[in-house]
Amino acid sequence: MSDSLSPHGPRIIAVANQKGGVGKTTTTINLGAALVEQGCRVLLVDLDPQGNASTGLGVEPDDREFTTYDLLLGDVDLAEIILTTGIERLNIIPATVDLSSADLELMSNEKRSYLLHDALRQPAMNGLHYDYILIDCPPSLNILTVNAMVAAHSVLVPLQSEFFALEGLSQLIITIREVRQSANPGLRIEGVVLTMYDSRNNLSQQVEADARENLGDMVFETVIPRNVRVSEAPSYAMPVLEFDTASKGAQAYRSLARELMSKNEAVAA
Ligand code: ADP
Ligand code: MG
Repeated sequence: MSDSLSPHGPRIIAVANQKGGVGKTTTTINLGAALVEQGCRVLLVDLDPQGNASTGLGVEPDDREFTTYDLLLGDVDLAEIILTTGIERLNIIPATVDLSSADLELMSNEKRSYLLHDALRQPAMNGLHYDYILIDCPPSLNILTVNAMVAAHSVLVPLQSEFFALEGLSQLIITIREVRQSANPGLRIEGVVLTMYDSRNNLSQQVEADARENLGDMVFETVIPRNVRVSEAPSYAMPVLEFDTASKGAQAYRSLARELMSKNEAVAA
């Protein structure tokens, strides 16, 4: 599988939604792990100063000598910044709170929106043969998220199956449009994925119906259920796919990975 994608370089996907707690980090980790199960090589870029993706994959703070901050603003070899995880073919560039100061430091930088774009396209990246790079964005439409959107081929939007879920989307879509008009005309919407779905709850069903009515086939068929195993896995420093491989959550992320891969094959064809 990896051979069919790598010649064109990795597909770079920003996982973004300016609301916190909607499942961005959970989706980044578990979609990444599910793509690895499908045979892909995957790099996760932790772009949130909270560093939850790093913690959730067991990267201890002491091991974060170099971080996404160095990727953006430093002069450090990729080989030193990219860390392995407990899962083969799944690598990560970790984050720490020092990323929160990047916001200010970037203000005076002329290339401020292009730093991640350029970093992910440096020649040293070629030899690493990633099929996918997934960027875990912070809960904000700040310069870090703009960097992700400028660097990415597409944006994947986790949408929590909850009241008002759709309200924040218009601001996100405006930002995507602005990035398209300026730095990245080819930026696509990979899709919207409903997360923390509770099929016994009328509200979840209503949010799904609204999303499908308003956003059409932008919404993934796959819905991620609310599943306690998903929320427990990070404290064991594992994706749910490894923590409880048969759980509903693991199955859903596998299904999401397959859906995403078949969409991208259709695009490539
Ligand atoms: P974000 O990155 O958007 O802030 P997270 O991925 O950190 O959101 O998720 C917020 C919280 O919800 C976390 O505690 C996470 O474990 C939990 N969570 C996410 N997805 C699920 C799910 N499908 N089932 C149960 N809990 C979930
Ligand atoms: Mg997060």
